Amino acid sequence: MPETNPAEAAPTLARLIDGKALAQHIRAEVGARAAALAARGTRPGLAVILVGDDPASAVYVRNKVRACAENGLHSVLEKYDAALPEAALLERIAALNADPAIHGILVQMPVPRHIDPHRVIEAIDAAKDVDGFSVRSAGELFAGLPGLRPATPWGCLKMIESTGVPLRGRHAVVIGRSNTVGKPMALLLLAASATVTVCHSATTDLKRHVREADIVVAAVGRRRTVTADMVKRGAVVIDVGTNHDEAGKLCGDVDFEPVRAALGPEGWISPVPGGVGPMTITMLLANTVQAAERRVPPAGA
Ligand code: NAP
Repeated sequence: MPETNPAEAAPTLARLIDGKALAQHIRAEVGARAAALAARGTRPGLAVILVGDDPASAVYVRNKVRACAENGLHSVLEKYDAALPEAALLERIAALNADPAIHGILVQMPVPRHIDPHRVIEAIDAAKDVDGFSVRSAGELFAGLPGLRPATPWGCLKMIESTGVPLRGRHAVVIGRSNTVGKPMALLLLAASATVTVCHSATTDLKRHVREADIVVAAVGRRRTVTADMVKRGAVVIDVGTNHDEAGKLCGDVDFEPVRAALGPEGWISPVPGGVGPMTITMLLANTVQAAERRVPPAGA
């Protein structure tokens, strides 16, 4: 019997969608656009506001500010005590709305309970709403108009597109219907001419829906929501979830290894970490540069 060289054995696992590598590629483009704007006198600027001392939020804002510095964007980080009155926060937002050096404003969610997140989001000038959470940005997405798209689902779309699997006519199942991930994800997929099913906590027989999906986006926040018996061979699976396993290790909503095997070599899967996370910050940078480009007349004008 000739020995089989393991290096030549046919692959059996789904291919990885490397969010880190894709993010790097897009960041290089975004950095080049930022440099072009800076050469014409406008350095794209992002203001990040953190209210309170939630440790996870502190990490997120630090990563956003660092990503700005690494890609030629200007950023300011404003940190406030958890007791900051809502009126004072709204005043700060008004000042940043009027600041010509700032093209994007984001208030890290969640805000303390005495602050109404909707009032805060709506206080941000729509042209600077780089999180894409305002009613206006949501309406632009709904109506198919140009605008600032929420970073996480937009990043997921880029990841799906990077596989080369065409979305037109494919069946996409989005698990989760939050305003920040699930709903905008469904609208982006619909705009790409996928046939879209949205599942949530009241969905009966989640497995039946997911088994029919060519594309699955899991945005729930619960480990092992998607297991190997639920996926179709050859499907594309994007894992948005951020959870921790018994050992405290970061993991997604998808039971990664068994699902990767069940998808087979024709399938695609994004890991956690190294998947959606790096893409989210990247698309935030892209939105900030886009917002700055809109403020600057085109070259030669
Ligand atoms: P969310 O607001 O809590 O929404 C979770 C959604 O999951 C809800 O629509 C909920 O349904 C649904 N759901 C809950 N249990 C379910 C079940 N058993 N079956 C089907 N659906 C179920 O969360 P989110 O803000 O959308 O975030 C989702 C996950 O993504 C979280 O783990 C979050 O940390 C992560 N995330 C990661 C990034 C990143 O950059 N990596 C960014 C954003 C979010 P109902 O509406 O019926 O309650």
